[in-house]
Amino acid sequence: MIAMTDTIELFGIKIDRLTMRQTVERLIAWTRTESASCHYVVTPNVDHVLMYQERADFRAAYEHASLVVADGAPVVWASRLLGRRLPERVAGSDLTLRLFDAASAEQPLRVYLLGAAPGIGDRAAANIHARWKHVHVTGTFSPPFGFERDEVWNREILDRIAHAAPHVLVLGLGAPKQELWIARHHRHVQAHVALCVGATIDFLAEHKHRAPLWMQRSGLEWAHRVATEPRRLFGRYFRGACQFPALVVRQWQHQYGRTAR
Ligand code: UDP
Repeated sequence: MIAMTDTIELFGIKIDRLTMRQTVERLIAWTRTESASCHYVVTPNVDHVLMYQERADFRAAYEHASLVVADGAPVVWASRLLGRRLPERVAGSDLTLRLFDAASAEQPLRVYLLGAAPGIGDRAAANIHARWKHVHVTGTFSPPFGFERDEVWNREILDRIAHAAPHVLVLGLGAPKQELWIARHHRHVQAHVALCVGATIDFLAEHKHRAPLWMQRSGLEWAHRVATEPRRLFGRYFRGACQFPALVVRQWQHQYGRTAR
C-alpha cells in the first residue's frame, strides 16, 4: 500500500507536497505494482494555472491525476508567499531524468515516448540508451495533427503502447493536449505511469535545449524558452506575466480576508 501524501490547495489546484526524491520513489513503487489503470502525473506551471481557471476539461484532467507536482518556479514561490509551502520544484523534465536514474539492472525501466515531431522520438531513444543502460525505449510515436479527435488513431496508439508494454509513458504533446488525452484514455493505457512533460522528448533528443542551470535555479527558465521560440511562446508568457500576479493577489486577499481598494 502506498502512503497518501499531504496536498496544498493553490489557485484551486491540489498540489502534492513532495520533493523530487519522494516523487521518484512514488513512481518507482507504481512501476512495480499492477493497477487497473495508468497513474498519470501532471506538472503545473503558470500557463497551467491560468488554463485551470478557464477550462473545465483541464480541471477534470487535473482532478483525476495520481500526482500533481509543481513544475514552475513561480508556482513554488507563490506557495511560499501564501504560506502553503511546497518543498521544492519538481519540473517534469527533471523528473523524467531522475526516474531514469533510478533504473537498475534488477529493476530496469521500459519506456514509451509519445509526441514530438517525426524522428525526434528515435533520436531521444538513442540518447537515452547511450546514457542509461537500464532504460529501454520499447517504442516511440509522433502522432499526426488532430489524432486526438480520431477514434481510429486513438485505438491504434493504445494498441502500440500495449504492444510495447512500457512501465513509463512519456507524453510530450504540450498542454492541454497531453493532459486531456491521458485523462480520457488512462483506463486503457497499458503502462504503469504516464508523465505529462511537454517538450521533454525534444530535450532528450537535443532538438531543443533547456536553460542553463543557473537560469533554472533562479526561476528564469521561461526567459530562455521565450528567447529560443519567441513566435510560439511570447504570447503565452506575456499572458502569464500579466495574469498570474493578479491571481496571487486575489488568493492572498481571499485567504487573509482583505478587500481590494
Ligand atoms: N506536440 C505534439 N503533437 C501535437 C502538439 C505538440 O507532439 O499535436 C509536441 C511538440 O512537438 C513539442 C511538445 O508537444 O515536442 C510541446 O512542447 P511544449 O514546450 O509546448 O510543452 P508545454 O510547455 O506546452 O507543456
